[in-house]
This record gives sequence, C-alpha cells and structure tokens, in this order.
Amino acid sequence: MIPYGRHQVSSADVDAVVDVLENQFLTQGEQVPLFEQALCGYAGASYAVALNSGTSALHVACLALGVGPGDTVWTSTNSFVASANCARYCGADVGFVDIDPVTRNISLEALAAKLDQARRQGTLPKVLVVVHYGGLSCDMESIRQLTHADGIRLIEDASHALGGKYQGRAVGDSSWSDATIFSFHPVKSITSAEGGAVLTRDSELARRARLYASHGVTRDTDLMEGESEGPWYYQQVALGYNYRLSDLHAALGRSQLNRVDHFIQARAERARRYTEALEHLPLRLPREPVYARSAWHLYPVELMEHDRARVYDAMIARGIGVNVHYIPIHLQPYYRRLGFQVGDFPVAEAFYQRVLTLPLFPELSADEQEQVIHALTESLS
Ligand SMILES: *Cc1c(COP(=O)(O)O)cnc(C)c1O
Repeated sequence: MIPYGRHQVSSADVDAVVDVLENQFLTQGEQVPLFEQALCGYAGASYAVALNSGTSALHVACLALGVGPGDTVWTSTNSFVASANCARYCGADVGFVDIDPVTRNISLEALAAKLDQARRQGTLPKVLVVVHYGGLSCDMESIRQLTHADGIRLIEDASHALGGKYQGRAVGDSSWSDATIFSFHPVKSITSAEGGAVLTRDSELARRARLYASHGVTRDTDLMEGESEGPWYYQQVALGYNYRLSDLHAALGRSQLNRVDHFIQARAERARRYTEALEHLPLRLPREPVYARSAWHLYPVELMEHDRARVYDAMIARGIGVNVHYIPIHLQPYYRRLGFQVGDFPVAEAFYQRVLTLPLFPELSADEQEQVIHALTESLS
C-alpha cells in the first residue's frame, strides 16, 4: 500500500538523536532552546515555544490569549478536531465558519457575514483560529482587516503549512496574527515524532505560553507575587500543564528543519505532476492563489461526477492509501451534542462528500506516483 503520507528520517537525524542519548540531557537541556531559535530563524518570528504536540500548542496559545469560560472561539469547520478542541479545553464556546470552495480555507464572505451578525447580537469571538488547509496559507491580511477593529485575536493553525509562504514571507512569521502554531507529527512538513510549537512576535504572549506549558510554575521574579525567597525558589502562578518537548524530540525536529525546503520542494514537484496528469479528469484540483505558495501537506481532489465511496474503495483495492480530509468538525458527535447539525456549513459539507486525498510525501517515487495517477484514471473511467 502506498500511504497518503510518510516521514523521511536521514542518518543525520539518527545521529542527532543518538548524540542526545549518549551525551546530553534528555529533557530541559540545550536542544529545545536551539530548536526554538532555529524555528524563529526559519519562519521569521521573534519567539518560539516548542511543545509536545500541535494540539498542546493550540491549547497554550488560547490560554495565553486569555480564553476562558464565557468566551467564544471561532474556527474553520474543514479541519482536524484539534482546531476547535483547544477552545473547549479552556471552557470556551466554539463557533464555526464555512469554507471557500476554491481555497478550502475559511471563507472571507462567510466570515464577514458572521461578524456582522455577531456585532448586532453582541456575540463576537475573543479568538479566531484560522487553518491553512493542506498547507495553503489563508489570506491573512484580509482576515486581519475584517477582525482587527473588534479586537479579535488571531491564531494561525499552520499544522499543515510549515515551509509555505504568504505574500512572499514564511508562514509562521506571525506578522498578521497574534501567534502561529505548527505540528511536527510524522505526516507534517517536518517531524519530531510528536511535537509542536507556538510562534509569535509578542514577548508577553510567548512568556505566558511557556508558563502554561510547564505547570504554571516560574522562576522568573517578574512573574512572581511578592519576593523571591532564595535561589531555590519557584512559584506556581497559574494552572498550567506539562506540555514540554523533550530534548530527544527537539534534536530530531532541529535536524529535520535543516531539510524543510528540500521537503517542500519535493512535495511541490509531485503536486505539479498530479495537476498536469489529472487536469483533464472531472476533478476539482487544488490551486494556489497569487498571494500564497503552498507547503503541499495534502493533495486533495474533489470528485465532481463520481461517487466518492466507490472511488475510495477502488483506490484502496489497488493499493493506493487515499484518505479523506476532513469530516467537518461540527458534524462530529461531540459537536452535534453542542447543537451543531447537518446543513449548518453547506460548502464544507459538500466538499467533504467529494474530497479524496492522494498520497503525497517527499519520497513518493515517480513510479509510485504514476501508479496513483493510473489507478485514479481507471477508477474514474
Ligand atoms: C495535525 C494537526 C493538528 C494537531 O497536531 P498534533 O501535533 O497531532 O497534536 C492540529 N490542527 C491540524 C489542522 C492538524 O492537521
């Protein structure tokens, strides 16, 4: 079976991890700060906080922005459940926004309409989590224009988009948002096995994210109440978590980051090949708008004339590990219990009915890719 995604580990990656095991601290050593510096250098943000998952990164980003009970967080329903769950962890309510049929990212029209209604009803969200679906950045400048006047804070869920670009700048530089989060799960642009990060230009936000990621405990006298009682002293000033990344994981992530541009280039070449080979079929293919270069985490095709379940089965039967991204979050039983239902976000629901994700990863060979193209062409005929 050709999988839909697969990580690549080099001998340099192995050496980096073995070096930590043999010679360094396993946790709270120098690898995490070095990885954080490398992420800032690559993406152009001022601060990075490395964490044990992208989900933890979303959670601490929400906490650091002050999300709590009584607040509302909006996100795109065409995403992985973690994009919404982060708000629920904080006790906040979730609202969803429908997607644009071309980019499959949050729809600017739907967002503008929902904001108008929320202004009238006094139900504006505290935070909007935008998702760079498949590796393609949202139009951040326009989103900021829509949300800025109301003081809505922005988090970019860039779990798919490390290595992508927006207006010529690296995704993660966070110039249009309060924070950007990445995931380093094995199917993403780079991997630390499990891992994630929050990137920001806001020093206070970075400080709070770090605090929440380590029990709410600090040795920073600026954050303490009253005086330090001595060099041994620490204080718990908030209810935090243990979301720290280990040095083993950081060493792997840091070594992988050296090859991120190579990975993205390999993904982009394979995406181009798909587009060229599939253009004549009754499919809607992913496209890059002028403002963004995708990191090509996914190559999702929309079946405009065929039954998705049948094509899915036919592809699996031919050894092609296709996938479906995403079941709209609001249709998950957990969210239905909160009152969401079929018909709430029709563009995302229609997209879900038609979408099929083809295998795409840096080491997908030319031969394997031709097998995928051949199998899809046959399955549609
Ligand atoms: C992978 C992913 C996450 C969660 O990342 P983990 O590192 O697996 O916790 C969040 N949002 C999106 C859109 C993702 O694809």
